[in-house]
Amino acid sequence: MNTVLNGVNEHSYSHHIERLMVLGNFALITGTNPQQFTEWMWNSFIDAAEWVMVPNVIGMSLYADGGMLATKPYASGGAYIDRMSNHCKGCAYDRKKRTGDDACPFTVLYWDFMMRHQETFVKNPRIARQVRAAQQLSDIEAVQQTAQSILQRLDAGQL
Ligand code: SF4
Repeated sequence: MNTVLNGVNEHSYSHHIERLMVLGNFALITGTNPQQFTEWMWNSFIDAAEWVMVPNVIGMSLYADGGMLATKPYASGGAYIDRMSNHCKGCAYDRKKRTGDDACPFTVLYWDFMMRHQETFVKNPRIARQVRAAQQLSDIEAVQQTAQSILQRLDAGQL
């Protein structure tokens, strides 16, 4: 997040995967208001245009059109970010941990997101497997509590 946001602040730009799988994913799994996030993207990117931003941010990134554009929400945890970048090496958080002080916020919020929307997503064959995996986690209650703590710290500007 730090690297991508610094890039946006300095160059008003980031590449597609950073937009979709870091910024968009963060907004998706934190439950950020889609209109507010789109507005921020619109104001922040040099190549922002309405015909690009609305379908890409509201539809593809945030799944806020209920699945008219994308066939599944593009949510991911720390494992995906680790696979696609070198940011997790040396991070204070552990991408594999979903509870505890050093649990990766992306990983925690990914599982919490699956549980928050389980009733809808379990009917979608493209994501039902991930929902069932979340439902079967032995520590899911602790994960959900950790997610609440992360969301509160984000709201308070402490994270
Ligand atoms: S461990 Fe989690 S918080 Fe740290 S860089 Fe990886 S995805 Fe980001």
